[in-house]
Amino acid sequence: MNNREFVTAYFRRMGVVVEETGFELVDVLLPAELAAQFEFNTEVLRLAFDYEVAQENPGSVFVTYGSHLLDRLTRAALKLGRFVEVFWPEADTPHPPVRLERMLADEFDFVKCRAPMVERWLVHEHVYYRFDFRCVFQSYDKVEEITPVLVDGRTGWVQNELLALWTHIIPAGERLYHWPRLDGRPPAEIYHQACRHLDHLAGERADALEAGSAAHRDRELAKMERYFAETISTTMRRMSKTEDATRRQRLEQQLAAAKTDRRRREKDIRERYTVSIQAGLDGLVLYHQPKIELHLRVQQRNKTFPFILYYNPLDGRIEPPLCPHCRRPFRRVTRDPDGTPCCPECISLNP
Ligand SMILES: [Zn+2]
Repeated sequence: MNNREFVTAYFRRMGVVVEETGFELVDVLLPAELAAQFEFNTEVLRLAFDYEVAQENPGSVFVTYGSHLLDRLTRAALKLGRFVEVFWPEADTPHPPVRLERMLADEFDFVKCRAPMVERWLVHEHVYYRFDFRCVFQSYDKVEEITPVLVDGRTGWVQNELLALWTHIIPAGERLYHWPRLDGRPPAEIYHQACRHLDHLAGERADALEAGSAAHRDRELAKMERYFAETISTTMRRMSKTEDATRRQRLEQQLAAAKTDRRRREKDIRERYTVSIQAGLDGLVLYHQPKIELHLRVQQRNKTFPFILYYNPLDGRIEPPLCPHCRRPFRRVTRDPDGTPCCPECISLNP
């Protein structure tokens, strides 16, 4: 990894938007807290990784071995935990499966179309981002777990079901192949998707933990209730027996205090069993792997239209594309009034 790759990987890891604006020239959109950490009073940090380029761009910061910024970044990156990049372990270019046409017919429904023809196919390198979040679930008990979220770098789609497949592969530490890399979604968007999915996963986990301790909580609540019910009924009995106004007033105060105390105790117990979640990014793994881009031609009545799908050699499946309108995966292919392939739901919304 060279300086530029290291620095861009670091900022991307921080969820920062990084744009390569020229040869050895990178713009970093700094959030306020990072700008403060590195003592920059600018929102866009322009970094040059080449001496000449730095000279030609007067506003840029030259990053080289031994430079102040690189030292600070390295120290910050080491504090973050691990960042790993792994690669598909085979050098051979994968081919589409022999049963491709059968698979297309089985897994997709091209509405009112003839069976699609595969015109050509090509192999690209894709990247998956695995964000490992350290989650701390805190209630009367503390549970600490690593929750991984796997996001497709091209679609921004969460695909945690593929995580298990990567555990069966011994990945390579470097590229053994030469496939063109496919452009992906901006890293900030990928990170945002991962965080959204984490919210959902961690919420479910917290609910499960809360449900697991509900019996405990209810026993504690019942015990507390019994205690106060007794105290209150004793006080009321005493009140009914006394004629002394001062004593009666004191007992009334005791009763009010007991009622307040009961509400406070109940709130305490409920809060103690409510699970709060704290999460932070603990590690990031980039999985580089091939995908086969399938260029199809589909015939609808007397017209044809092109359609692109991706075959994933990792799970041996053709990925459903994302609808250009609602961004949801779809397998039933229709076309909008402009002729763009999309999901049937979006057609019924704007007929
Ligand atoms: Zn749609």
